[in-house]
Amino acid sequence: MANLQVIQGDITKLRVDAIVNAANTSLRGGGGVDGAIHRAAGPELDAACRKLGGCPTGEAKVTPAFNLNAKIIIHTPGPIWRGGNNNEDELLKNSYLNSLKRATENDCQTVAFPSISTGVYDFPLERAAKIAVETITSFQNPMTVQMVCFDSATYNAYKQALNE
Ligand code: ADP
Repeated sequence: MANLQVIQGDITKLRVDAIVNAANTSLRGGGGVDGAIHRAAGPELDAACRKLGGCPTGEAKVTPAFNLNAKIIIHTPGPIWRGGNNNEDELLKNSYLNSLKRATENDCQTVAFPSISTGVYDFPLERAAKIAVETITSFQNPMTVQMVCFDSATYNAYKQALNE
């Protein structure tokens, strides 16, 4: 089983095998954590993403990490919250699951996730935290996964989900 740790910080500063990016379906960079990852990784990241031709919601694609202290970046577009009856829960679960699969395929032992979809995409935080924790802790690979929470409300929500 994956070993999950919840920490507070900036995901672009970590040294891990894989950093997960809460991307958009174009993979061309955006605001929030996506913008921070693109700025920290450098312009080569956008060139690499361009070649991937986008990514459907809930799936996950890999690039090198360029200037980040990681081997790879796993880009996954989480769902935009549209009230909860548009398959949002399943799509969010798929984002975590497909990212963990890409990490496994690339022999990653340490993986850092941001809180996918709970920023601009407006997914309710407690609900997202529960899905993330369940999906990560039931993944059958003994890797170390860090949930990297940018603010204290996010940190508290994932801590609580982990303790339940
Ligand atoms: P989404 O579009 O999937 O909602 P956002 O980037 O808007 O993605 O937000 C996802 C989460 O990432 C939010 O909790 C936001 O505060 C957080 N975030 C923003 N910048 C960083 C960063 N440098 N490191 C970790 N988390 C970050």
